[in-house]
Amino acid sequence: MARVLVGVKRVIDYAVKIRVKPDKTGVVTDGVKHSMNPFDEIAVEEAVRLKEKKIANEIVAVSCGPAQAQETLRTALAMGVDRGIHVEVSGSEYETLQPIHVSKILAKLAQDEKADIVIVGKQAIDDDSNQTAQMTAAVLDWPQGTFASKIEKGDGEITIIREIDGGLETIKVKLPAVVSADLRLNEPRYATLPNIMKAKKKPIKKVTPKDLGIDTAPRIQVISVADPPTRQAGSVLPDVDTLVAKLKEGGHV
Ligand code: AMP
Repeated sequence: MARVLVGVKRVIDYAVKIRVKPDKTGVVTDGVKHSMNPFDEIAVEEAVRLKEKKIANEIVAVSCGPAQAQETLRTALAMGVDRGIHVEVSGSEYETLQPIHVSKILAKLAQDEKADIVIVGKQAIDDDSNQTAQMTAAVLDWPQGTFASKIEKGDGEITIIREIDGGLETIKVKLPAVVSADLRLNEPRYATLPNIMKAKKKPIKKVTPKDLGIDTAPRIQVISVADPPTRQAGSVLPDVDTLVAKLKEGGHV
């Protein structure tokens, strides 16, 4: 039986209209609705299904972030995760926390917890890095199956169907391994009220990167954050001849 470690990040909710801070150092997060990163809900769901299929016997969720990361962990616990680890990173340290740091934290916890499978989302929708799974596998020197749309357990290995450009790729990886969840892997369940109540009693351990021996000094400096350019208004043309004339005028034909 396997122990599964799942990474869950608290991000600005996907439905929120993002606003850039006037000083261009980042986006406005104060007073903005946050939720679990959607791909992490898929990662949690897959871990819970592995437990339901008796392939996994314990699921541990990890969230690196400020105090509110505990809310994200509670959501994971309400979906069926057994226990949580809150790696407390806040203030300016969290603002500059990068995938390399999260990867080292996940790798250390995977070793400490003797995990067989680490599942993370394919990307966090706030920074869109798509780096954590790959770097975690590299730090651990474990095989990786990224962009998973199906996972099947074999004997000491898993078969993963991956979403790749123009099709699907099937690979086999030996355990322990790192997997990243793509959109079509499953449809995450909603936590039911009784499970939300039960989740309140499940344990969450708090640690810091320092406790784990991880240096969080930034490697990347964000120079500036800006809104995408606003689209210019379009125009409605009466017929094809006018369109062709306009295109010629603009040097497009
Ligand atoms: P990224 O490489 O930043 O796009 O993130 C990919 C995945 O790594 C996410 O979907 C999460 O599963 C995991 N991850 C990233 N940042 C964190 C974090 N702060 N805490 C826990 N898991 C994280």
